Amino acid sequence: MAIMRVVQVSRPNGPFEIVERPIPEPDAGFVRVKVAACGICHSDSVTKEGLFPGIQYPRVPSHEVAGTIHAVGAGVAGWQPGQRVGVGWNGGYCGHCDPCRRGEFFACVTGQVTGATFDGGYGEYMIAPASAVARMPADLPAVDAAPLMCAGITTFNALRNSGARPGDVVAVFGLGGLGHLGVQYAAKMGFHVAGIARGKDKEALARQLGASIYIDNQAQDPATELLKLGGAKVILATVTSGEAMSAVQGGLAVNGTLLVIGAAGSMQVSPLFLLTGCRSIKGWNSGTAIDSEDTLAFSARTGVRSMNETFPLERVSEAYDRMMSGKARFRVVLTIGH
Ligand SMILES: [Zn+2]
Ligand SMILES: [Zn+2]
Repeated sequence: MAIMRVVQVSRPNGPFEIVERPIPEPDAGFVRVKVAACGICHSDSVTKEGLFPGIQYPRVPSHEVAGTIHAVGAGVAGWQPGQRVGVGWNGGYCGHCDPCRRGEFFACVTGQVTGATFDGGYGEYMIAPASAVARMPADLPAVDAAPLMCAGITTFNALRNSGARPGDVVAVFGLGGLGHLGVQYAAKMGFHVAGIARGKDKEALARQLGASIYIDNQAQDPATELLKLGGAKVILATVTSGEAMSAVQGGLAVNGTLLVIGAAGSMQVSPLFLLTGCRSIKGWNSGTAIDSEDTLAFSARTGVRSMNETFPLERVSEAYDRMMSGKARFRVVLTIGH
């Protein structure tokens, strides 16, 4: 029997274990993906630390997978072995629950999450529902594609659905793993981009990524600075501090939206400020496979890339610690040798 290596977690807060397993066969409706690279995301802590209810262990984490279809199960239409694909956080959908019937596939009641409810990409092969795979452009290397399957789609899909139009002021708050992609996408979409981060030292990076304005929120009040520009049509909040989000919301233009994609705690909201300017605060859930596919295609075409630190699969523990330290610039990606 053919054997593969995977990295599993056997219990909440347990160590990563590199183990051998038989290469699994795809059931009807599923595909087997030969993994070339996979990103390590902060949300992998959901599986590593057992933060999600009902995770069955052992479990292989990762929802930022890039590879090639290796086999298809019965009844799978439109996918063949050899196609380059990615698999993201949305682990497919049933197609017949009420949210699916309304076209809100991201909210499918089956709640399938790659690397949490089924095994993800820290390994040589994985099985994915056909509804969870996205085409990966031929000219986009797997290492570049992997982080776009989570950090990329989340920022790209939020911005393209934000209601902002070319020329509008769009602020990207936070210049980390999400924000450094958000600035690039916002610039390529034709927005007037303001980058907001702590400290003067991020300014050069923000401008290099496509921001025409930089606001240092340690030295300046971000709301005041945004209002000098007429206010932001959209503030994409990628930070993980609710307090920081509260401080920036005052920079919204009339009809502006604070678009929340950073998993922060509570924030303060001024109802009067919202209602007097028809402003809103909205969350965004990354998207499904077709949104990932659009993200990869747009990125390949326009040159948007994640800045990555890469590690071989064998060094997964070191790579994960690096990601959790918050010091990685900006995403951590595992490369998988076959
Ligand atoms: Zn993620
Ligand atoms: Zn469904």
